[in-house]
Amino acid sequence: MANLIEVTNIRSGNPGLSGWNEILPKPAPARLLEKTVTADWLVIGGGFAGLAAARRLRQNRPHDQILLLEAIRIGEGAAGRSSGFMIDLPHDLNSDSYAGGAEKDRKQTEMNRKALAFAVQAAQEYGFSKEILDARGKINVAATKKGDLHNRDYAEHLKELGEKSTWLDATEMKRISGTDYYLSGLYTPGAIMIQPAGFVRGMAEGLRSEVNIYENSPVISLRRQGSDWKVKTSQGTVSVPKIILAVNGHLQSFGFMKQRLMHIFLFASMTRTLTEKEINKLGGERNWEFVPADPMGSTVRRISGKAGDRIVVRNKFKFKSSVEISERSVEIAARDHDRSFTARFPMLKAVEMEYRWGGRLCLSWNDVPVFGELEDGIFAACCQNGLGASKGTLSGILAADYATGTENPYVADYLDAEKPSLLPPEPFASIGATVYLHWKEKQAGREK
Ligand SMILES: Cc1cc2nc3c(=O)[nH]c(=O)nc-3n(C[C@H](O)[C@H](O)[C@H](O)COP(=O)(O)OP(=O)(O)OC[C@H]3O[C@@H](n4cnc5c(N)ncnc54)[C@H](O)[C@@H]3O)c2cc1C
Repeated sequence: MANLIEVTNIRSGNPGLSGWNEILPKPAPARLLEKTVTADWLVIGGGFAGLAAARRLRQNRPHDQILLLEAIRIGEGAAGRSSGFMIDLPHDLNSDSYAGGAEKDRKQTEMNRKALAFAVQAAQEYGFSKEILDARGKINVAATKKGDLHNRDYAEHLKELGEKSTWLDATEMKRISGTDYYLSGLYTPGAIMIQPAGFVRGMAEGLRSEVNIYENSPVISLRRQGSDWKVKTSQGTVSVPKIILAVNGHLQSFGFMKQRLMHIFLFASMTRTLTEKEINKLGGERNWEFVPADPMGSTVRRISGKAGDRIVVRNKFKFKSSVEISERSVEIAARDHDRSFTARFPMLKAVEMEYRWGGRLCLSWNDVPVFGELEDGIFAACCQNGLGASKGTLSGILAADYATGTENPYVADYLDAEKPSLLPPEPFASIGATVYLHWKEKQAGREK
């Protein structure tokens, strides 16, 4: 049992400014933890998992003192940098994973939907607009024969699972998007689309009257003192018996799961507001959201609303064995974004990107989360793997239920998960992963 945990790499891993956060109104100044306080519960991390954990703790223990600490501003981290797809269905319903995996897929879908329902309920309670959360589904798009086949395969598997989907041919895809780039699309209605930074900021706003939220207050150490943990931030201290650690890959910075977590950086660019003339030139619907049939392809969204009509492109992957990355990585990804944007929207040649950014997600080699009581009183809701918006929300709910002893049948599923497998030592892990990602990206071809 550790008596002292010292945290490293604080605040790293968020290169560039996320357009999602920048197009929102400026938030009120951050409330920093600048004194010594006590609480019954401390949540560390204000992403999907931490905010879900805080809300669930409030539901389970309405009279307890709950405190949440976030190292930066809520909305500036990975959650607010994501592409905003809260997806119900497992991503990988291909023939290989499907063989014998139907039950697993059904279970995962059922669990994801609990998380989505939780998000929708919060949105209703906190009065989110449709720009922030819209249960409008998503389209898996194909720009190549291979992608098209993958989509057809996916549609078959969905049918076998009893899930609805709608096939969209090239003409339909052009009607929706304005571009003739896509050969087909598969619409699935269960996904929820969020303005990611607006969602996490809205969750924090909604919770603020019941949970003490401090931002720009990174946890730098945790020291065991009797039955409490003394948690130090840069300017304050919390004495607390129970902690939910919702820091995703930063778990490694807290000294846990060394050489077992993979940090994958993703990158995105958002255009400036399109002019009326450009909107007319493009045609299509004002809002749509495309996930590539090939996972290494480009995710593309068109949004409209208070910040105008814009297009967001996300592609490019970078493996890191640590949570740090340079600002230059964003410039490198920008070339790929511009190429993908121009190929899809030649009619928008004059449209520049206004924001470019990168962010981090956490994977384990054997696709398992890190969950359960890591130390006496320290519970983890970390390492979300893919679908981090849904699974992060789910792990936050489950961690709060587990820590409060609240009955939830899915807790056992998470507790039963294996430990993340050990990765090869450096530099082999980085070299292997980089070569693999590069090869997969090349194979994605026009999907990228
Ligand atoms: C460009 C991009 C696009 C993506 N698109 C999608 C998508 O469309 N759908 C999807 O499901 N997933 C997507 N993801 C992945 C998704 O963003 C993550 O999986 C998700 O954010 C994980 O949620 P989380 O709450 O576990 O962790 P995070 O969102 O990373 O939140 C953890 C928080 O902990 C804080 N923290 C860390 N250390 C400390 C400390 N010492 N003290 C206090 N606070 C600390 C961090 O600042 C951070 O805000 C995308 C990611 C990126 C980068």
